[in-house]
Amino acid sequence: MEQFAKPGEFCPNEACPDYQKLQINQSKPNVIKAGKTRKGVQRFKCQICGKYFVETTGTIFYRKRTPEHEILETLALLAEGNRISSLTRVKGHKEDTILSWLREAARHTEELEDVLMKEYRIQRGQLDGLWAYVGNKGEKKLPGNS
Ligand SMILES: [Zn+2]
Repeated sequence: MEQFAKPGEFCPNEACPDYQKLQINQSKPNVIKAGKTRKGVQRFKCQICGKYFVETTGTIFYRKRTPEHEILETLALLAEGNRISSLTRVKGHKEDTILSWLREAARHTEELEDVLMKEYRIQRGQLDGLWAYVGNKGEKKLPGNS
């Protein structure tokens, strides 16, 4: 059965005791709102593990078999210029799998860029190279607005 969870209703950190645990007790929430990013994306903080995350963290790759941090790390390695073929060898994921993550990621560039830049120290130019892989120059990006 499908379970719909809204962003901010669960912690996306796999190391957290409350990972993907929906909040039952609303008077003592484990995830609280914690301001917004530069681009106006809602930011949350898990009070259990202390980790910050944005609205979309944990929802883009939610319920994928592979842990989100593994997907993000693979995307980060790609952004850093590693070839897909070498990543399949090093990480043990199929090329098709990596490409499907990349395609999915390219539909959420704005949110993912935030995470990749902050948590994986990926540079702007590297991100452009990443999206170029799937022929996406970035969504909602206006000239001179980067
Ligand atoms: Zn947590």
